[in-house]
Amino acid sequence: ELVLDTAYFRRWLAAAHRLFERDSARLTALDAAIGDGDHGANMVRGFQAVTAGVVQTPQACPGDLLTQAGTTLTNSVGGASGPLFGMALRRTGKRLGAEPAVSAEQFAAALRAGAQAVGKLGGAVPGDATLLDALLPALDVLDRELAAGATVLGALEAARAAALDGADATGPMQASKGRASYLGERSIGHQDAGANSVVLLFEALTMAADP
Ligand code: ADP
Ligand code: MG
Ligand code: MG
Repeated sequence: ELVLDTAYFRRWLAAAHRLFERDSARLTALDAAIGDGDHGANMVRGFQAVTAGVVQTPQACPGDLLTQAGTTLTNSVGGASGPLFGMALRRTGKRLGAEPAVSAEQFAAALRAGAQAVGKLGGAVPGDATLLDALLPALDVLDRELAAGATVLGALEAARAAALDGADATGPMQASKGRASYLGERSIGHQDAGANSVVLLFEALTMAADP
């Protein structure tokens, strides 16, 4: 069974960095349609800084690692996504505390706290066409699969699929938070860029299962 230790979370952040590099142009195109076209570049810059910072703290526990990664994202990304994803990671890390390894249930509960903090910071609710529309359904499926006795990797794969469905579902939504909300009804028919980044973060969680 997959062990969620510091090495796992380091692989997660590194895999996320690779996926943001891979999909940067697609994320930026999504943001260009209804925003200012910098989302891909923002996530690449943020995760570049995160992976650079992680190298300097080899001894960190999962909680400290993710807290530090969140602070780095907040400080290195100018756009809204930096402070929002930064808050999510920082709160997740704080919840994990100082344990050297955590259970999947602990991680799921910590991610939930991170999502709640994002909602509080940005004021978005489900249906506003934001990153939360991918994150919340993914967390619901993660909880459900773990409760049903799925393997950790199986639960993470199901959560990734739910995040993808959630990101797709932002297409017909009218954005009411962030830059896309300036377009009003003209934001309808375009997927939210940040929701697509959430899909990549879950994809990276499944990739990190492979050392
Ligand atoms: P900016 O909009 O400042 O250029 P980015 O393009 O990097 O920043 O990120 C935009 C993404 O941030 C959106 O696609 C959306 O998912 C997310 N976002 C923006 N505002 C909010 C908010 N208030 N609550 C939740 N997510 C938000
Ligand atoms: Mg933008
Ligand atoms: Mg911007």
